[in-house]
Amino acid sequence: MKLHEYQSKQIIAKYGVPIPRGRVASTADEARHIAEELGGRVVIKSQVLVGGRGKAGGIRLAKSPKEAGELAATVLGMEIKGLPVRKILVDEAVGITKEIYLGITNDRAARRPVMMASSAGGVDIEEVAATTPEKITKLHIDPLLGLREYQARDLAVSIDLPREYWRQFGDVASGLWRAYMENDATLAEINPLVITSDNRLIALDGKMIVDDNALFRHSDLNEMRDLTAEEALEVEARKYGLSYINLDGDVGCMVNGAGLAMATMDIIKLCGGEPANFLDIGGGASAEKVAAALRIILADPKVKAVLFNIFGGITRGDEVARGVLAALKEVKPKVPMVARLVGTNAEEGLRLLANAQMITAETLVDAAQKAVAIAKGA
Ligand code: GDP
Ligand code: MN
Repeated sequence: MKLHEYQSKQIIAKYGVPIPRGRVASTADEARHIAEELGGRVVIKSQVLVGGRGKAGGIRLAKSPKEAGELAATVLGMEIKGLPVRKILVDEAVGITKEIYLGITNDRAARRPVMMASSAGGVDIEEVAATTPEKITKLHIDPLLGLREYQARDLAVSIDLPREYWRQFGDVASGLWRAYMENDATLAEINPLVITSDNRLIALDGKMIVDDNALFRHSDLNEMRDLTAEEALEVEARKYGLSYINLDGDVGCMVNGAGLAMATMDIIKLCGGEPANFLDIGGGASAEKVAAALRIILADPKVKAVLFNIFGGITRGDEVARGVLAALKEVKPKVPMVARLVGTNAEEGLRLLANAQMITAETLVDAAQKAVAIAKGA
């Protein structure tokens, strides 16, 4: 789950990282009031779950409450990378003398978290990472020992941070580390961390992604979820306990079991096609669940064929087939459906599906070839 900037900054602030004073608004009037409270000079910041807002015109500096109101109206009317701006953060404006990058993520290959820092922070960090990666220092952290003081200092030295900021930098790095660990984050990032014109180190931007699988132990974070900012189909899927990820291809996949769903996508690719989604309907596929899954798959206009790959185990094949039939009656799909069903009561299940005008297949390869051929216009 991605958190908005204002949410991420509130979290890291709890761990002692200094952030500018500011509040969230959803109307131009509110923004003007907040600007008055903050003394006039503010930054209006669009709250959308994508990066590069600054370059897209979604971060604007206002010199007065009146201008704050006007800019807020403009930004609230914007769409950034396809996402409408519904909220803005109104932060006190800060004079900047230097922009630093500081972030933590998981390094899967090293099997531990990695902290990254660069003196070339700000809106061009992607460019820096691509063209001059040596300007980004990386430091692995032992998750059991945590971030050590000397490590934070090494990092400060590596980015040529003047000595008088080492202590503050150490506090920021350790706060960010604790925010990352204690919230089960997969990313915690400050870009830019700035040196202000009055010699303070403060986090102007913040970004956190927390692990969905750990949300059950963070009820406070769960409440921060912004459903309006997430992919609508994925939100709908979560409601029914389905694991659904929208992809770029045109063969819809309806599979019971995550491993089987991965294998199904692989075989579709092997047969020269591209899956339109990952979908695991889980065990005990009831008609209601299958119908919801089918609605979700078909809501994607790219889908030209749907491949059902069902393994009848604890849930018998004929039961799943009945679920599929009930779902078909409700959803009335217009694209061809190919079914492969094996396991307990597979014959009965396949008979039911064939009667419902589904194209049946003996093996997964057979099913994938048929679905890919249909999607390609055969
Ligand atoms: P992003 O483009 O989505 O990463 O949004 P940021 O919050 O990082 O803002 C982009 C840029 O706007 C920053 O790198 C700063 O240069 C600038 N900026 C943001 N807040 C302030 C501020 O309070 N004062 C000044 N002068 N610039 C700011
Ligand atoms: Mn930024």
